[in-house]
Amino acid sequence: MATIRPRIGVMGGTFDPIHNGHLVAASEVANAFQLDEVIFVPTGLPWHKKTVSSAEHRYLMTVIATAANPNFTVSRVDLDRPGITYTVDTLIDISAAHPDADLFFISGSDAIAQILAWKQIDKVWSLAHFVAVTRPGHTLELPDAPGAQMSVLEVPAMAISSTAVRERSNTGKPIWYLVPDGVVQYIGKHGLYGGAK
Ligand code: ATP
Ligand code: MG
Repeated sequence: MATIRPRIGVMGGTFDPIHNGHLVAASEVANAFQLDEVIFVPTGLPWHKKTVSSAEHRYLMTVIATAANPNFTVSRVDLDRPGITYTVDTLIDISAAHPDADLFFISGSDAIAQILAWKQIDKVWSLAHFVAVTRPGHTLELPDAPGAQMSVLEVPAMAISSTAVRERSNTGKPIWYLVPDGVVQYIGKHGLYGGAK
């Protein structure tokens, strides 16, 4: 009898903080690709930018934001691995933890455009199917990657970025309804990004 392989989404990000654009993207891909689970993976040290909040704050905000969805989970693999985070290592660790699953790596159009610069890109392609979601303000240009499994999904336009959430918070503007309620409260409680209103 053929066994059914679990289908698992992997959504990497700095999540500094996690916002509703990330959650809508994950939810839409889960629905369109019939995923059993989406694992959110906060980065350790990103190779391309600095984080503002500590790894533990970013991790906890991601847990709070995803806690109510039975199909969403959060992984610490990138936080617990020392050094800079590379997607190849994320996918190796997630596939080692789920050896019988098919992985779907979810990223926005800005991130997919940078993909060819990733470490061990040929290995990366072999580890997952790539789903590029549309993102307001970014044109979707798929990398020229023969042999890669890649799909595009148009998702409801959420013109939100963590950068804008941080800026709004720092300048005393509300961030309610851009990030989940619990994340607004967590930001206020810990005084992140100047504290939330
Ligand atoms: P920052 O402004 O700090 O870069 P960000 O909002 O871009 O934050 P990231 O943590 O960098 O968030 O992104 C993680 C992933 O989520 C990336 O693949 C990114 O393209 C995607 N993403 C982020 N915001 C959206 C959005 N509003 N719609 C669709 N995809 C998004
Ligand atoms: Mg970004």
